[in-house]
Amino acid sequence: MIFGKHINRYYLRYLHMLLIGLAALAAVDYLQLLVPKLYQMVINGVNNGEVLVDGVMVPFDMDFLLDRICMPMLTIILAMIIGRFLWRVMFLGTAFKVEENIRNRMFDNSRRLSQNYYQVHKVGSLMSLYTNDLDTVSECFAWGIMMFFDALLLAVMSLTKMFRMNWLLTLLSLIPTALLLVSATIVGRYMMKKWDVRQEAFSRLSDFSQESFSGIAVIKAFVKEAKELMAFRKLNEENEVANVEHTKAAVLLRVLVMAFVESVVCIILGYGGYLVWKGVFNAGQLVEFIGYFTAVIWPVMAVSELIDMSSRGKASLNRISGLLDAEPDVVDAPGAVPLEQVRGEIEFRDLSFRYPDGEYDVLQHVSFRIEAGENVGLVGKTGCGKTTLVDLILRTYNVPDGTLFVDGHDVNSITIHSLREGCAYVPQDNYLFSETIAENIAFAVDDATRAEVEEAATLADLYSNVQEFHQGYDTLLGERGVTVSGGQKQRISIARALMKKAPILILDDSVSAVDTQTERVILENLRRTRKGKTTILIAHRISTIQQMDKLLYMEDGRIAAVGTHDALYESCPGYRKMVDLQKLEEEGGADHA
Ligand code: ADP
Repeated sequence: MIFGKHINRYYLRYLHMLLIGLAALAAVDYLQLLVPKLYQMVINGVNNGEVLVDGVMVPFDMDFLLDRICMPMLTIILAMIIGRFLWRVMFLGTAFKVEENIRNRMFDNSRRLSQNYYQVHKVGSLMSLYTNDLDTVSECFAWGIMMFFDALLLAVMSLTKMFRMNWLLTLLSLIPTALLLVSATIVGRYMMKKWDVRQEAFSRLSDFSQESFSGIAVIKAFVKEAKELMAFRKLNEENEVANVEHTKAAVLLRVLVMAFVESVVCIILGYGGYLVWKGVFNAGQLVEFIGYFTAVIWPVMAVSELIDMSSRGKASLNRISGLLDAEPDVVDAPGAVPLEQVRGEIEFRDLSFRYPDGEYDVLQHVSFRIEAGENVGLVGKTGCGKTTLVDLILRTYNVPDGTLFVDGHDVNSITIHSLREGCAYVPQDNYLFSETIAENIAFAVDDATRAEVEEAATLADLYSNVQEFHQGYDTLLGERGVTVSGGQKQRISIARALMKKAPILILDDSVSAVDTQTERVILENLRRTRKGKTTILIAHRISTIQQMDKLLYMEDGRIAAVGTHDALYESCPGYRKMVDLQKLEEEGGADHA
């Protein structure tokens, strides 16, 4: 059995199924304990030619064998088959429901968690929570209940029968049981720690595998397959050692149980044989007593299994609880209201920002204003804070009160959902889903028509490219489909953002992988279709942002200058240097060409 904040509620929710399962289990246990009595009757019947039934001596003949032994035995077997089937369906069915519920809650919380969580917790570890740990918890739930009650019922029923037959023999048999329970508890605690270590080792292994598969191109390009293999082997070995350590403890527990069974058999055969010799017991009764004891072996074994299983289940449930209890860092402030009809005016007021785990301010005293409908270019050296700045507009991280305003409202006073609904974003990492091109483009818009998808694709200058694919817009992308080039990926991503027709569009270095001719077409389309809507474009190529209404030039987390390209070229030495350097590089490139 496994208990914890996140699982207790299911015992109550599925009580009806669990009770049916328990009733079936109790019936099976009761029927099972009728069998030793039949052994006794057969042995005594064979020895004496007659059997004592309800205080009356009955001759042991063919009729007796058929009516009092075979028929009841067949009925018991049949009823036990039905009972076993029923409890399995009830307990395992409940466990699957619990697993489904917890998995849904895990996914729901995963989706609420902020970006920061995913920077700390790697995908591999998260996946092992959804697979390995959840399986363990579910197994522990179903088999845990079954084993606990089965062991309890069988132990109580058979020990009662044994006590009734001979209390001293029963007490003597219980001495090794007490010793076993004490040692099993100690070993169980040790096993829980070992299981935790094992799961951690497995998480590291899945993190590593996941990263290796994702970064396979880099590994191959740098011919680092052997190094990766060595690192994998090391982690795999750690995993193996952790497994062996856990298994050693589990085996120790099993050996203890076996030792218990054997020592009790010794006691029963020794003292029980003595009782038969003294005439207190007859042979049939000794066999009956052994039959009841055989029924106790399973509960005792179950105790060891239960301790092993609960220790694994608890460790896994703790890890799952870590995810279920994790709180998102970025949430609506109390009293935040939805921002209706976003216009697209953005203002930073003396905003300084440091990443949650950062050691210095990545943005320092940033102040600027973007009017609704403006086209703004954001430029500056790599690492100067451009992506961070747009991430803040999208409220990916928290900002201090009174530092960032959209349409004149402090972003902390409006709901995150409404703010993000007003924005469309083309991130630097143009992530595409393993779906068709059309589905990727229409991602943000439910019930988008094919005409709308085609229109967005045309604006992102993707139209002719899509025609080249065999299945056009229905071409599947990703692992099961085709691989698209970096430029095509960027344009699908742009089309996806344009479909949303949001009042604020943010493009983070989104045309870096397309040629200058395509870039010109896309920029012209943006200018034409986004009149009256705010567009922020981060770019490295000056040609990309030269024509924008306004440029923000950043240097080391500060806004160093604001103005048009011409104005900045005149007034800002840093900007002028960057432009001149790019011109030189282009001329150098042209000379070489
Ligand atoms: P840019 O987009 O101009 O290249 P970024 O905004 O991506 O620059 O990064 C600005 C600085 O913030 C860099 O020094 C970078 O290392 C740091 N940084 C970026 N993301 C994080 C993060 N999640 N945690 C801590 N520091 C970060």
